[in-house]
Amino acid sequence: MKYYVLFGPPGAGKGTQAGSMVERYHLCHLSTGELLRSEIAAGTPLGLQARALIEAGNLVPDEVVEGMIAAKFADTKGVEGFLLDGFPRTIAQAEALDRMLQEKGEAVTACVSLMIEDAVISERIAHRARIEGRADDARPEVVQNRINTYHAKTEALITYYRQAGKYQEIDGLGSIEEVRERIFSVMDQL
Ligand code: ADP
Repeated sequence: MKYYVLFGPPGAGKGTQAGSMVERYHLCHLSTGELLRSEIAAGTPLGLQARALIEAGNLVPDEVVEGMIAAKFADTKGVEGFLLDGFPRTIAQAEALDRMLQEKGEAVTACVSLMIEDAVISERIAHRARIEGRADDARPEVVQNRINTYHAKTEALITYYRQAGKYQEIDGLGSIEEVRERIFSVMDQL
């Protein structure tokens, strides 16, 4: 099984590129952001707990997302691997993922990282806010907090995966098709 971590700051294009990646490599797409938004929409206790955190641009607790991922690993069958989108987002989550996979005799295949600058992040999210209407995209101070959270807690994963020899960085600037071709040319070699 392949286990890809799709990495990048908010607005880097992870969700946009994930569809063609899962199709080409027969993967199951697991987006913790999407899973959390469906918990919120369904009004579950987990959704209620996550809602205020997400709308303020903060992370939900590590145990919550780790539990969601473990549950999906347990009940997804018939795929060649997983594309983890938005997970891990902290070193603790990356370590938990490594432990989960180790127990199955598996390991992260690669961290595919879409990189864009902070200025581009804000522009893209402002654009997405007009199209998708996500509550956490609407307020500039919330977007700024997500960018700050990325630098404070998530960016350290670059070193984590680089040290493991698994870090593959891709320039996230350009058209959707251009970025997609860059991703494919890296992943075709893995
Ligand atoms: P984006 O990449 O645009 O920030 P996501 O859809 O990946 O959006 O995530 C939306 C929000 O869901 C995050 O800002 C965070 O509050 C929460 N979230 C998603 N994944 C995680 C995670 N792995 N750990 C903690 N919180 C998460």
